[in-house]
Amino acid sequence: MDTQYIDSAIAVAYNEAQRYQALRNDTRPRPEIDTEALRLAFDIGLPDAGREPSDVIRLLNEAAIPGLVGSTSAGFFGWVMGASSQVGVAADILTSTWGQNAGIYQTSPSAAVAEEVSSSWLLDLLDLPKESSVGFTTGATMASFIGLAAARIEVLDRQGWNFEVDGMIGAPPVRVIVSEEAHASVLAVLGYLGFGQRNLIRIPTDEQGRMDVDEMEAVLKTVNGACIIVAQAGHINSGAFDRLDVIGELARRHDAWFHIDGAFGLWARCSPHYRELAQGAELADSWAVDGHKWLQVPYDSGYAIVRNSAAHRRAMSINASYLNHAVDDGRNPSDYCPELSRRARGFTTWAVLQMHGRQGVREMLERHCECAQQLQKLLENEPGVRVMNSVCLNQLAVTFEISGDHRISEVVGDHSPQGSVNAISTDAVIARVQKENISFVSGADWRGHRIMRVSVISEHTGIRDIERLAISITKAWRAEQKVVRQSGGACVQQ
Ligand SMILES: *Cc1c(COP(=O)(O)O)cnc(C)c1O
Repeated sequence: MDTQYIDSAIAVAYNEAQRYQALRNDTRPRPEIDTEALRLAFDIGLPDAGREPSDVIRLLNEAAIPGLVGSTSAGFFGWVMGASSQVGVAADILTSTWGQNAGIYQTSPSAAVAEEVSSSWLLDLLDLPKESSVGFTTGATMASFIGLAAARIEVLDRQGWNFEVDGMIGAPPVRVIVSEEAHASVLAVLGYLGFGQRNLIRIPTDEQGRMDVDEMEAVLKTVNGACIIVAQAGHINSGAFDRLDVIGELARRHDAWFHIDGAFGLWARCSPHYRELAQGAELADSWAVDGHKWLQVPYDSGYAIVRNSAAHRRAMSINASYLNHAVDDGRNPSDYCPELSRRARGFTTWAVLQMHGRQGVREMLERHCECAQQLQKLLENEPGVRVMNSVCLNQLAVTFEISGDHRISEVVGDHSPQGSVNAISTDAVIARVQKENISFVSGADWRGHRIMRVSVISEHTGIRDIERLAISITKAWRAEQKVVRQSGGACVQQ
């Protein structure tokens, strides 16, 4: 090979990428370097004269490695994050190398057609209406933004209001019906779109975080005029699904736009065993799904799916004379996303879908769900450990409570806020697991409890990693109880 290629920046990056992937499971999931050290590692000064590209990549690698989170490893269960699959990474390298701008068809016919073809595969896999259009986004947040922007135009149109011309100011009221436990990104997006909190009707939830559909029905009777309903397929703590079939029917009856945040949960539709959870999802008008979670596409990747393709384009198209395209041109990617110039996101999705195939996606999803069930079994054998959710998918919400230990309630006192004993022990267990640094879990507040959240979603995770995680958790929990007992409960003040 020509020597100029052997030591190119790409060759260095390629070697380092291979090394990183090979050592993936031996590296510690939580970076142990502090912020100041990391700043020093990166701040090598801006040189007057530039450096050799291959040296730059070596320096970048050196600076970044100590501060990387092991989210691509099999022992990573924090938040809800995919593992950047190898084929996606490889397609990503080509994507950047090709430097294609997925703005309009003419700026990259291949980017446009890769998105078009991947769109139809996605609709097929998720079993959603074939006439829907798909915008390739940075993630589920932007996907919900797009779906709800299309909703805004369409429901106002039905009230005789032309949103494109007259905008939001003075528009007829739009009521948005959304769960008490909607994902934070959905609430943020509603804010970006100009729906203030006063326009939202929050529906109470049951013990799994599912909306009370009777309450929704009662609320709908009081709403006349424009209405949008946002439901969830896959709750971030419990994995639970709203009653999509019932909600779909209600939306239809009340002429409301029905949007589903299905960032990771919508993939349940790929498996005959789990599909029932998302029954009725096909009734919605728009869907937000992630590629970079369960599908393992490298960041950033999400899909905004809108049944009414015309509303989708009305909400997103950018028009200018220099963006005109010929009649026989194909799909314009920017008609379905807020960005004009952007990464050609279709290539990674195309590659990852080809690598998995229908069967691969289904098997991975089922394996993760079985892993979650197995973890529940292993943890529930341990006194004081409680899995709060009924494990229907890949998520577990776990609490740790030292029961019948009066010394602790004495120390904490009656004035303590509800759940504080549980909060102290749960946080302490999470801290111990993170400190051991074999597996990684994170915490959250849910329904008055502090919980350890476990998300089984990395493509590399299998039963052995679950057993290892269960050992880490159990060991941490036992150690914590011992410390508390020895100190007569005093350590709960830590
Ligand atoms: C992750 C997630 C989101 C946000 O998706 P991003 O890809 O982070 O933008 C929204 N809803 C749910 C249920 C999620 O899990």
